[in-house]
Amino acid sequence: MSQTVMPSYGRADIAFETGDGPYLYASDGRKFLDFGSGVAVLSLGHKHPHLVEALIAQAGKVWHTSNLYNIPEQQRLADRLVANSFAETVFFCNSGAESVEASIKLIRKYHSANGNPERYRIISFAGSFHGRTLATISAGASDAHRAGFGPAVDGFDHVAFGNMNEVRAAITGETAGIMIEPVQGEGGIRPADPRFLMDLRALCDEEGLLLMFDEVQTGMGRTGKLWAYEWSGVKPDVMSSAKGLGGGFPIGACLATAEAAKGITAGTHGSTFGGNPLATAVANAVLDVMLEPGFLPHVVEMSKLLNAELKAVAQRHPSVIEEVRGAGLLLGMKCVVPNAELAAKAFEHGLLTVLAGDNVMRFLPPLIIDEAHVSEAIAILEECCGELEE
Ligand SMILES: *Cc1c(COP(=O)(O)O)cnc(C)c1O
Repeated sequence: MSQTVMPSYGRADIAFETGDGPYLYASDGRKFLDFGSGVAVLSLGHKHPHLVEALIAQAGKVWHTSNLYNIPEQQRLADRLVANSFAETVFFCNSGAESVEASIKLIRKYHSANGNPERYRIISFAGSFHGRTLATISAGASDAHRAGFGPAVDGFDHVAFGNMNEVRAAITGETAGIMIEPVQGEGGIRPADPRFLMDLRALCDEEGLLLMFDEVQTGMGRTGKLWAYEWSGVKPDVMSSAKGLGGGFPIGACLATAEAAKGITAGTHGSTFGGNPLATAVANAVLDVMLEPGFLPHVVEMSKLLNAELKAVAQRHPSVIEEVRGAGLLLGMKCVVPNAELAAKAFEHGLLTVLAGDNVMRFLPPLIIDEAHVSEAIAILEECCGELEE
């Protein structure tokens, strides 16, 4: 294979031609149950009719105008995100890393606007992932992601996930904020203790720090509420969103309180594509579906079922699976065998999953799955575990 595409990814040797709901069809005729959702992106599955309609309708009007002009669909999306979250204001971009990057800049600018430019450092956590730009690999925990890319961006202090003593000890006169995933995704599907989030909130209030939640993976219904923070009742000052926000169309957002965003004035931050008419038309269509009264309860119901069934598989096969953990339809199986081995078996049997750190296999089905899809996935897993035990 010639490398006209840079070989930055380890890819499975398959290409998909069409998708439909939670299914993908490969060009060689194989059919797959997609419990990876393009890494938690396809919140409504493939080819959702309402999203297809919204995309086509907007494509026939105007695709892109830039942020030099008003964008009605963007304004409407911001109004709806604000109406359905802690936030009072939204900045739009195109990806998760950019939404985290915007959050970092906003946190620094807040303290600068308050006359404290020396407060720029952000506390983040072991096991975290925040994206692949220079600032976000510096914020994230992975040494491998930083290796060979020169000096890390200064201003990030890493402490143990869940350890209040370490957080307190890391605070200095230069600390600006704390950044955390309510459920660590790439790092291995580790939910934060709600008590820990409450303690972080109290500490931030005490010390004048901004609390930022990275909900790029946990947001937009993934855990059964629109935002994962709703489970703990702890509201952040700043939050990043992307992945599920556009249901497959690239879009990201940084949501904040008006106070936290007070340093972001005209000309201080920007994006050429951010929140363009096509992206925001599709994201509005995603919200149309998710804000329907029965949608999130269905996610909770399916997550309980999948969680219980995965746990039952784990119990039957302790030599293959150690434990099941996560929240909503963001579930991980910590494996005894190498996670890649189990995932490869599942792939052979027509089930797509995603790997995560800590030897975890991730289940991120579209939020529209029903009981039959859960049964189908469980039957495949059962077979895979049986084969691995032989
Ligand atoms: C995926 C992810 C990101 C990065 O998103 P990209 O769209 O790949 O830039 C950042 N934070 C979290 C928590 C993520 O899961």
